[in-house]
Amino acid sequence: MVNVLVIGSGGREHALSWKLSQSSKVETVFTAPGNGGTENNVPISVDDLDGLADFAQKNNCFTVVGPEDPLAAGIVDKFNKLGLRVFGPSRQAAQLESSKIWAKDFMKRNEIPTARFEIFDDAQKAQEYVKSLDYNVVVKADGLAAGKGVIVCNSNDEAISAIQTILVNKTFGDAGNRIIIEERIDGIEASYIALSDGDIAIPMASSQDHKRIFDNDEGPNTGGMGAYSPTPIIDDNLAKIIQEEVIEKTIHAMKKEGIVFKGFLYAGIMIQDGKPYVLEYNVRMGDPECQPITMRMDFDLYDYFVASVDGTLSSLPPATWKSQSAVCVVLASKGYPEAYSKDDEITGFDSVPEGAIVFHAGTKKSGEKILSNGGRVLGVTALGDTLQSAITNAYAATDKIIWSQKFHRKDIGQKGLSYL
Ligand code: AMP
Repeated sequence: MVNVLVIGSGGREHALSWKLSQSSKVETVFTAPGNGGTENNVPISVDDLDGLADFAQKNNCFTVVGPEDPLAAGIVDKFNKLGLRVFGPSRQAAQLESSKIWAKDFMKRNEIPTARFEIFDDAQKAQEYVKSLDYNVVVKADGLAAGKGVIVCNSNDEAISAIQTILVNKTFGDAGNRIIIEERIDGIEASYIALSDGDIAIPMASSQDHKRIFDNDEGPNTGGMGAYSPTPIIDDNLAKIIQEEVIEKTIHAMKKEGIVFKGFLYAGIMIQDGKPYVLEYNVRMGDPECQPITMRMDFDLYDYFVASVDGTLSSLPPATWKSQSAVCVVLASKGYPEAYSKDDEITGFDSVPEGAIVFHAGTKKSGEKILSNGGRVLGVTALGDTLQSAITNAYAATDKIIWSQKFHRKDIGQKGLSYL
């Protein structure tokens, strides 16, 4: 039996901890720093790499890294140097997410389908370039900006002010020292996530996120307001195309360039006329997608994490999935993604119907009370025999949560229904 240390404090980490704790090979799952829903919390922040390594060493832990920041900071390289076992990509491999420019150049030289683009560090040149185009663009900060450094523009004027926001006003700090201006691709968006050991990649169940704050995909982008799995948008044919043209091509090209990619590889995809374009890579599970995907796993996740680290994924049986659908409705604090309040009490957990799981994200415990502690606060996740029944079950559970600042979308999963 081993102990597992899950690093992070979101709904993704609660879902991973929940699943890993079901493994017969796992003794105790610790979460650092965790949230009001995770157990065995360790008060070490995700950027204290020395503190995390020290804890993992003393407690004989296999470590699972949830979020991107410690991966970009080289936590895996550090742990490996100390002889500690850790699931996730190295700092070099994490560049697929930590530098959007690195990722775009990588895709271009390896012929992985993506929108055409140019790179700028000079606002005036960027604005002149935009004026010369006859199509709409998306302006992206190069570095990590918590999913918010991307501005989708509907006109030249919007693009010009986006350039001003990122390059001149430095709204995203140094992450915006350089920008990408790329063609806006109008299509259907989906996520495709695979688990790799550097040689092969096994697909996770398909899913779809809902990034905008309001129903019908209106309002600003967020970290994600809900997700469901599987999604009919990615049928078997499209899944095969994405697996071969995007995922395997990426893993093999990385290896050819001397970088072994171990961990979750997430491709944010836009599908236009049946063809996938990579909008972005993430080098970890998506959140909220992780929550419905984890709920559908019919295998021991710990085994797959170990095989990713050891390079032995091909020796495992295929990952199997519950045939049911799963839906996750994110409950956010009113005002998110702008200003919102914290420390508001949340109740009603005991009334949530059996079968639904309330994964915690921005929460903390105060004595016996659960208080809000962030923008995205809970991920209410439920299974159902059909997508419609999973939606019904997730919203029935959502209604039981009582909290003065509760805000959520009312249309999670509807996009999927419209494709059935
Ligand atoms: P990213 O972080 O690069 O995935 O961008 C965040 C969101 O912006 C995506 O989920 C899309 O909704 C949108 N987006 C990014 N790139 C494009 C693009 N080239 N065309 C249209 N929408 C985009």
